[in-house]
Amino acid sequence: MKKNTQCVHSGTYTDPETKGVNTPIFTSSSFEYMDIPENIYPRYFNTPNQKSIIEKLCALEKAEDGLIFSSGMAAISTAIFSLLQSGDHIVLQKDIYGGTHHFATAEFDRFGIAYDFVSNTMDDIEKAVRDNTKIIYIETPSNPLLVITDIEAVTGFAKSKNILTIIDNTFATPINQNPVDFGIDIVIHSGTKYIGGHSDICCGVVVASRTLIERMKATAANLGGSLNAGTCYLIERSLKTLGIRVDRQNKNALTIAKHLRTNACIKKVYYPGLETHEGFDIAKKQMRAFGGMVSFELNDKKVNPHQFLKNLKMIKPALSLGGVETIICAPVATSHAKLTDDQRAKLGITDELLRLSVGIEDADDIITDIEQAI
Ligand SMILES: *Cc1c(COP(=O)(O)O)cnc(C)c1O
Repeated sequence: MKKNTQCVHSGTYTDPETKGVNTPIFTSSSFEYMDIPENIYPRYFNTPNQKSIIEKLCALEKAEDGLIFSSGMAAISTAIFSLLQSGDHIVLQKDIYGGTHHFATAEFDRFGIAYDFVSNTMDDIEKAVRDNTKIIYIETPSNPLLVITDIEAVTGFAKSKNILTIIDNTFATPINQNPVDFGIDIVIHSGTKYIGGHSDICCGVVVASRTLIERMKATAANLGGSLNAGTCYLIERSLKTLGIRVDRQNKNALTIAKHLRTNACIKKVYYPGLETHEGFDIAKKQMRAFGGMVSFELNDKKVNPHQFLKNLKMIKPALSLGGVETIICAPVATSHAKLTDDQRAKLGITDELLRLSVGIEDADDIITDIEQAI
């Protein structure tokens, strides 16, 4: 099956009695155990609603097995803590999600996990690797500058050194990019974003080989970041339209990125689908389309970023991303607020940088709102 068909059909649990076309919501936290092959319990990641969405997500990401979590950070922290122990080393791309960056700097030292943040060039990644390096962690396109990392180059090197690779595929979605095709071991999503898609759900996803998921499952049960059946069903419902939502967001974002480039009050536009973007050639190699995220820098001599945000009428300055409505945020005040000025400067995040999460509205209306606000 192709992507849109998988979105609709993969993983659906057919109730044998009623033959309803949708997966029923199994509200139980208590399941009988006699004559049942395994003990079923929400925190064991094996209830019917959890398994239904995992099956759909595995189909979409071409992975064998997976786990659904109560947040993206639960997915990220569980994956990392289940695979590392005291004395191990992890290499992380420096321009990753601010929360993941903060997770590393706030927690790893206490557990004796050594880490290095590096640029996304192979030179820097190879230089950072030590004898005890167990994981290379990347995010492409990255947040908020849409930096593109060559997935195949990273996994080729990692395999030669017996190092596991993890990718945060949140921005791309499985519609635009399947990292498993390029040799990635573990794919993570903040399902709060495009997978939920309506700004009303918090969840996280890990998919990988069956062997790796088995390794992670025991720690996952201990850390307990599982997800309830009602939210699982909402995600199943959201996933049915993932393909058509993302397709629309891809088209809107490209139109808007091209338009923003023509405005003299905008200094710089970041979008991996523009030929002028640094990572365009690699993006074309590993992505089917370029996603719904566009970042841009206002010319602060002409426009005050704070006033610009206040002037917007339809587009709300808001946290998070990936919903059907267009929203905007200043990373300095949101995703990267916990970083020091120095850390932000190193990442290229200025006070004038804005990140647009493009929705499914008509592109003309989004452009009109930005123009009037400028
Ligand atoms: C939001 C986000 C996360 C964290 O997900 P939560 O659901 O907020 O815990 C991780 N990675 C990326 C790229 C994100 O955008």
